[in-house]
Amino acid sequence: MAPKLLLTFVIYRLISTVGLTLDPTDLLRLEVDGHLSVDPSDVKTASVDFGMMNRAEPLAVLHPSSAEDVARLVGAAYGSAHGLSVSARGHGHSINGQAQTSSGVVIEMSASKGVRQWGLPRVSEQSRYVDAWGGELWIDVLKTTLEHGLAPKSWTDYLYLSVGGTLSNAGISGQAFNHGPQISNVYELDVVTGKGELLTCSEEQNSELFHAVLGGLGQFGIITRARIGLEPAPQRVRWIRVLYSNFSTFTKDQEYLISLHGQPPNQKFDYVEGFVIVDEGLINNWRSSFFSPRNPVKISSFGTNGGVLYCLEVTKNYHESTADTIDQDVEALLKRLDFIPSSVFTTDLPYVDFLDRVHKAELKLRSKGLWDVPHPWLNLFVPRSRIADFDEGVFKGILGNKTSGPILIYPMNKNKWDDRTSVVTPEEDVFYLVALLRSALDSGDEAQSLEYLSNQNRQILRFCDDAGIKVKQYLPHYTTQEDWVDHFGDDKWTLFSKRKMDFDPRRILATGQRIFKPMA
Ligand code: FAD
Repeated sequence: MAPKLLLTFVIYRLISTVGLTLDPTDLLRLEVDGHLSVDPSDVKTASVDFGMMNRAEPLAVLHPSSAEDVARLVGAAYGSAHGLSVSARGHGHSINGQAQTSSGVVIEMSASKGVRQWGLPRVSEQSRYVDAWGGELWIDVLKTTLEHGLAPKSWTDYLYLSVGGTLSNAGISGQAFNHGPQISNVYELDVVTGKGELLTCSEEQNSELFHAVLGGLGQFGIITRARIGLEPAPQRVRWIRVLYSNFSTFTKDQEYLISLHGQPPNQKFDYVEGFVIVDEGLINNWRSSFFSPRNPVKISSFGTNGGVLYCLEVTKNYHESTADTIDQDVEALLKRLDFIPSSVFTTDLPYVDFLDRVHKAELKLRSKGLWDVPHPWLNLFVPRSRIADFDEGVFKGILGNKTSGPILIYPMNKNKWDDRTSVVTPEEDVFYLVALLRSALDSGDEAQSLEYLSNQNRQILRFCDDAGIKVKQYLPHYTTQEDWVDHFGDDKWTLFSKRKMDFDPRRILATGQRIFKPMA
């Protein structure tokens, strides 16, 4: 269908669906080089996400061909008389409908049905950065940069997420203690604001927009290009897991390891994470394919008497040319830790295989029909001073002995996060990510049901509230503005709202976050 005709159709659907009276003139002027679609399969894809708990059908889906297409659509929505919203969708890996809208158009940033004018990520070897389209998946950024012997420094555990999607949150993994989150490793952005302007921003240029967009939950603009810092890519990774039965020893060691961030590379690990094991089944779960069937691990063999085990996970990157010192460096670091002596599990693999580890697990789960299921995930930043209380109340209390998915726990250094960005973290020098990454199953076991797990999440949040543990949600989800104000705190909320007024005054962007009511 020709773009003009198609937009007329969209407008009629909008009028008939939500009963709005539109002034279609501006929208009718829209011409895009990409593809604007009302194809039911496109609408269906854009109406769901990884969480599988929310569903909202957009009126149409834009497969943009360029940043200009994005600007044309947002500009037209901004100019239309009555609230047509626009939501960028990266790879749709949100949990609670954050990239959805039922009163507007979803821009599919990653799916490349449009004619891609932006091409592959472009690497500058000399200045060590890559320019990537906002919808590019991190796996593709990695593949391109590796051709130049370079790689981004800060990652997420899973690479089938878009650049714009993770930069709208923070983007964290075990490298964050050292390099900060992904948003601390961005040099420059191209952004289409809620007024439809395409602007370049950085620390020096349009810096307010730059900081607003990083961790900005899609509220201030759509990222169409990100310039990301690179480092020489390691070739291999030594990947080590050790176990603890004592929580305070575990966290003491984790905190020690992240305190080494300022040390020379051979005197610190490159990645520090960890996870909690509360039931026997979990030790061989989807994140733990590491413990292979040839190398089975039994919780009971570590003398926990049915209690909780904690697994510290660290890596050391290396080049084949420095392989002779890797054993020594790892040994020296492990010597300073206090884990259960018989519990060291080591593997060695190419750098790409380590970074892409979760995708392997995804393929296995997909083959068993266990990937496309509801995911009532809860991600919390917990201040260091209260992590032991969280352990007592949640890991050893509320969770019981079944968890239905991995539970990650690792600390980060706040000084690696830039306070000027929009992301919210606890007010302490060190805080932990606790990620309850659970899948709901229709297995007949009540403890695996969506209702049970959702209730448990509410119980965890209530426990923190009652105990005065000032957690902050990562990938936050709230449904009332009061809760959002509470999340941001008074000062940051004032700034966040002002930025919204400046960059998206009609409140048309990323309405699926439910932070601001779209204008009628
Ligand atoms: P979407 O879900 O499509 O969008 C998320 C939000 O960002 C929406 O509000 C959307 O409107 C907005 N948005 C999307 N693209 C743009 C853009 N170009 N410009 C502006 N706004 C935009 N996170 C971590 O930090 N670390 C992890 O290790 C990690 N692991 C994960 C593993 C799995 C299996 C999954 C499902 C998620 C994981 N996440 C992790 C969470 C992930 O970072 C977020 O859910 C992220 O938003 C997903 O990216 P996406 O591209 O799918 O974004």
